[in-house]
Order: sequence, then structure tokens, then C-alpha cells
Amino acid sequence: MNDTPAAWAWFDEALGVGLQLGLQVESILFREQTDLQDLVIYQTAQWGRVMALDGIMQICERDEFIYHEMLTHVPMFAHGSAREVCVIGGGDGGILREALRHPVDRVTMVEIDGAVVELCKTHLPSISDGAFDDPRTDLVIADGAHFAANTERSFDVIIVDSTDPMGPGEILFTSAFYADCKARLNPGGVMVTQSGVVMIQGDELTTTVRRLGEHFVDAHGYIAAVPTYAGGFMGMGWATDDTSLRQHSAETLTARFSAANIATRYYNPNLHLGAFALPTYIAERVEAGK
Ligand code: SAM
Repeated sequence: MNDTPAAWAWFDEALGVGLQLGLQVESILFREQTDLQDLVIYQTAQWGRVMALDGIMQICERDEFIYHEMLTHVPMFAHGSAREVCVIGGGDGGILREALRHPVDRVTMVEIDGAVVELCKTHLPSISDGAFDDPRTDLVIADGAHFAANTERSFDVIIVDSTDPMGPGEILFTSAFYADCKARLNPGGVMVTQSGVVMIQGDELTTTVRRLGEHFVDAHGYIAAVPTYAGGFMGMGWATDDTSLRQHSAETLTARFSAANIATRYYNPNLHLGAFALPTYIAERVEAGK
């Protein structure tokens, strides 16, 4: 079979700054224009199934563990005893899956587009891996910003696994939303956010740190290397009023990780600490937000 690039179909995403992501595609498994977004699920040659929303890469089976482990286990092990967790966005269920691996009482997941949940359960089931059926899961189909502004619930950890700051996701990058999340956090609580690929969307991390800093004592950022979030390190926003959460020793994190008995493929306690050791160009982005 001719396997030159010209013979393959490709999923291409223009990333900006003269860079694009291309994934060899074997077939389009499913496509639907939901009420809110154009959802496509591809079968790719070497990256498993891939979901795109409005033409933007969301997740792929081959490397999703990196992003989901780092956006979940860093705040969860930093907190150490989270029982009430809120996931804003995260329609594929990957964050939900990872959060439920901890001894939580409940994970409230607030996803604006119910079709994303249903279609991922059907066509990309490996990501949620049954998490939506866990009795501790409370799935709320709503705008995360509206939920944060109106719920009576409070949380130990809030994880914002949103699309990029456009369309329905835009409101999840606002200071008002962060203020409402702050009001929903219990003492000692922490929130983290998906803040883009720093080399490509660097202003996103700077702006997020700045806006989080308007409401939290410790607003910062950390990183993970996700191959299909092309362009370098993925930035993740961090916010808490408990400055000790970012000061844990390797011994403390190792003890918590061992006690949790969670098998991971990217996260480990040393990497947790290392994720905050930022390359200079990223540290500068974070400091510009302070
Ligand atoms: N990991 C991906 C990334 O880093 O770009 C994000 C994955 S997840 C599919 C993003 C989810 O955010 C989508 O399911 C989308 O429907 C949801 N979303 C976007 N805006 C939202 C809002 N205002 N409230 C709740 N969920 C929202």
C-alpha cells in the first residue's frame, strides 16, 4: 500500500504562528453538528481515535493520559484529602475518570454540551472508561460559568477542562468566572485550568494567571508535554489561597501517591514538583501575569 503522505488523508489543525498539526487519518468514525459545536471523531493511523470540536484537536487515545493525569493528580495530591471535586467541561470524561481514582465522595461534572458526553461514551469510550456510570459522578449539563455563579455546592478541587477561549469556552477564561470558582472553593481548596500551549497561545497563560491573581493568593502555572497539543509545553493555570499546596516536599507527595495506589503513565511525585520548574520563556509568561 502506498504509504506516502500524499496517499493518506490528514486531520490538519492550523495552530497559528505558522505551525500546523497533521494526523494521518484512516477514517471519519462519526461527525455531528451538535447544538453548540461541530464534533468529529477520527480513526487515525497511529494515534488511536481523535476528537475535534470546531476543527480544534481536543483529545486522542494515544496521549490523553498525559493531559488528564497532570490536570487531575497535581491538584488532587497537592490538596491531599479532596472529597468534593468539580470538573468544568471535560465532556470526553478523561478528567472525570482520573478524579474518581481518588477516594472522593462526589465529582460534579458540568459540561455545556450533552451531545459531547453521549457521543464520546459511544464513539470514544476508552477515555471515560465507565466513569459516567460511577455512583459518585454527578453530571450536570449546563454552562460552567452559570453553574459556578449559582450553585450552592462547595468544592475542594475545581478542574477547568475547557475548550479554548472562543465560542462557549470563552466565558471560562474570565475574571468573573474565576471569582465565582473562588467563592465555591472550601478552605484549602485549589483550582486548575487548561491554559493552552504556551509557545503558541502564550498570552492565555499570562492572562489566566493575572485574572486568577485578582482573586487568589497564589496564582501560578505548571506544564506538561502533550505530543498532540503541538508547539511545546502545555500550560496549566494554578490558583489557591493556601500557599503550602505548592510547597509540598517530594516525601509528602510520594507518601500520598503511594497511599493512593494509583497506577499512572505520566504523573509521578517528582514530575509533580518538576512541572512547576518552568523554562525561562514560560516563567516569564507566568510572572507577566503577577
Ligand atoms: N482537553 C481539551 C483541551 O485541552 O482543549 C478539552 C477537552 S473537553 C472536550 C472540552 C469541553 O469543554 C467540551 O466538551 C466543551 O463542550 C466544554 N465546554 C466549552 N465551553 C463550556 C462551558 N462554558 N461550560 C461547560 N463546558 C464547556
